Amino acid sequence: MNKQEIIDILSDNSKNDWLFKEADRVRRENVGDEIHLRALIEFSNICKRQCFYCGLRSPNKEVERYRLTKDEILLSAKKAVDLGYRTVVLQSGEDDNYYSDKLCDIIRSIKELDVALTLSIGEKTFEEYKAYREAGADRFLLRIETTDKDLYEKMHPYASFENRVRCLEDLRTLGYEVGTGCLVGLPNQTIESLANDILFFKEIDADMIGIGPFIPHHQTPLKDEKQGDFWLALKVMALTRINLPNINIPATTAMETIIPNGRLIALQSGANVVMPNVSDICNRKKYEIYPNKAGVNDNELEVRQQLEEKFAAIGRTISKEKGFRSR
Ligand code: SAM
Ligand code: SF4
Repeated sequence: MNKQEIIDILSDNSKNDWLFKEADRVRRENVGDEIHLRALIEFSNICKRQCFYCGLRSPNKEVERYRLTKDEILLSAKKAVDLGYRTVVLQSGEDDNYYSDKLCDIIRSIKELDVALTLSIGEKTFEEYKAYREAGADRFLLRIETTDKDLYEKMHPYASFENRVRCLEDLRTLGYEVGTGCLVGLPNQTIESLANDILFFKEIDADMIGIGPFIPHHQTPLKDEKQGDFWLALKVMALTRINLPNINIPATTAMETIIPNGRLIALQSGANVVMPNVSDICNRKKYEIYPNKAGVNDNELEVRQQLEEKFAAIGRTISKEKGFRSR
């Protein structure tokens, strides 16, 4: 689709039913009915950045900060493997405590468990990304958040849009499966810029795209802003599926958080991935990027069983593979 076609669909709600059905069809024909599960471990909520939207931003002094040791991370990873997960996602704030050698050691130990490993730890240098890749990391998630450079730089003090793009290029050069994505509903974000986001995903040939509505957090500068619209976020996600048919698209936790069954609706509108949280419950509460995050109190074993039932009810099964992009 060209930019105008995307804008027209985003601006017109009368075609929503068609759009969601079409995205579901494209998903089925290109990546099938299997859902890939990724076990999420939030290993540190310490962050040096100041992203305006995020509850973990460094100026938020109300957060009880934590960071996990290697043994604690490995314990969660082993639990994930025992529950049948084939991918582990290590996510954190931008925490320099995990310097290259330390993180590489953790990556190597997790890789011994025969899982795919995804990192989601923010902006690093080429050399750092290279070291993690050589240690065995397979994938990296780094949302562009918005392709509107002015908006990006307003939302991210002391950070540059160019560096964000540089990171994504480096990850691609190093042979990672590259995941990116955007927030929908940032203050002053336009429909045109959302269309540009989708075109950007296509331009960099991203392997995974996570799209989530912006949810205001009471301890951030955006506390009084309006929450992102679920249906608009779903439309961006559905259009992403139609324009990048064979990629992996998660039904995001933010979608589940703002409307009941948001995740199941997303899975029927183009998504094929779910990322259940396997972090320790008491740390999950401290990893509050936005309030009332879905799944914060859920028991991992029960979640695994419930998901299987919920997916079966919509004619879907859980994949037993590592779930790389199908080309
Ligand atoms: N620190 C790493 C980074 O920023 O890439 C990884 C962790 S960060 C918490 C993961 C994602 O959370 C971000 O890419 C951002 O899109 C999302 N996020 C943060 N605050 C949010 C909010 N208030 N509403 C919705 N999503 C949010
Ligand atoms: Fe830190 Fe990521 Fe939150 Fe930004 S979005 S403040 S980098 S944890």
